[in-house]
Amino acid sequence: MNTQCLPCLISLAFAIDQLYNKRMLIRKGFKYRLKPDRFEETDMSRTAGCNRFAWNTMLAIQKERLENRLSCLSYNQMAVVLLDMKTEFVFLKEAHSQTLQQTLKDLDRAIKDAFDKKSPKRFPRFRKKGVNDHFRYPQGFKINGNVVYLPMIGWVPLFKSREIKGTPKNVTVSRNGKSWDVAVQTEYEVAEPAPQSVTACGIDMGVTRFATLSDGTLYEPLNSFRNLESRLALEQRKLSRKKLYSQNWLKQKAVINRIHTRIANARKDYLHKTSTAISENQAMIVLEDLKVVNMSASARGTADQPGRNVKQKSGLNKAILDQGWSEFRRMLQYKQLWRGGLVVAVPPQHTSQRCPVCEFVHAGNRKTQAAFRCLNCGHTDNADHVAAINILAAGHAVLACGENGSQSASVKREPTRAKAQASAPQGIIGL
Ligand SMILES: [Zn+2]
Repeated sequence: MNTQCLPCLISLAFAIDQLYNKRMLIRKGFKYRLKPDRFEETDMSRTAGCNRFAWNTMLAIQKERLENRLSCLSYNQMAVVLLDMKTEFVFLKEAHSQTLQQTLKDLDRAIKDAFDKKSPKRFPRFRKKGVNDHFRYPQGFKINGNVVYLPMIGWVPLFKSREIKGTPKNVTVSRNGKSWDVAVQTEYEVAEPAPQSVTACGIDMGVTRFATLSDGTLYEPLNSFRNLESRLALEQRKLSRKKLYSQNWLKQKAVINRIHTRIANARKDYLHKTSTAISENQAMIVLEDLKVVNMSASARGTADQPGRNVKQKSGLNKAILDQGWSEFRRMLQYKQLWRGGLVVAVPPQHTSQRCPVCEFVHAGNRKTQAAFRCLNCGHTDNADHVAAINILAAGHAVLACGENGSQSASVKREPTRAKAQASAPQGIIGL
């Protein structure tokens, strides 16, 4: 390289800067409980209602188009329909227009995700009153000390449990049982972290054991739903005996919502603690590339072709969804990102049938759900532990293939979703 040449010097400086000053963008959410007065509460309730109406009406239109073999409306087309809707349903003007636009963007995203060929998500559903009521402001909000300004609603006090870090990008207001929360999403840059630990582990996720690590650590399932299930069933029976939408019905509904909230909170807490503990100790985490949506698909089948093992499968579905596997993976991914670690996904074939000692693969190696006994060399171990070891080995193999190592790590750290999906090599989870 000619060091006298200015462009060369600039590109050299740029390369050095890239090497030593790697920055990464972190997006983080900060959630607070709001303290609205009764007028603000009414306004929030109304805004949430308008957003629900916009979602449901637009979803009905999209479904009708699909039934008539037409393509779904794009976000821009939906925005035009929204303008027409506002002249027909004047009450929509009581909600801030940007929140409605955000709702349509969410719907657009949800439909695109549902038709994603690689990992299809569930098709969006109609929203029910009181279930997951929320709306989002992309701008126009202000945060000042212990109050947040929500356009068309006003300054609402909040319980500030911790300081906000970074530049606020949007706020989401949501109903949580009887109370209202606000989540502030912020963005900030940090120097790209170097992994604190040098170890790697494979994780086998199961129903009887939530997670088994290749180093032998195991996490029992929380089954928060199972524990509260009988209580929930009892309260739901009480609800069924009440007159629909009567005062007593509403009271009972609130009791049920509180149980649901408790279940959700307990699960979230458990997933956070587990994923943090694993992420803190491992530089590389290898997971099976299971499609949770497919695994938990109903076995019921159609009227012409009834499914098999419907009852057993439904029990398994409940257990899988109760475990929150996909949420757990998502947490591991972003926690590894913050710590400069890596998450690798490997194909799930034969992970529970291969002997880690002699590599012998046979279905008979796994006599029962829990016990592994190699038919070739007689090696015995817990089946989940064997699977975790095999998963780790498969992860090392993925990284050893070609140049992958450092490059895949940087691809994984790409902040934008579309980019990562487009360029992620096989076996690496895009963000
Ligand atoms: Zn063996």
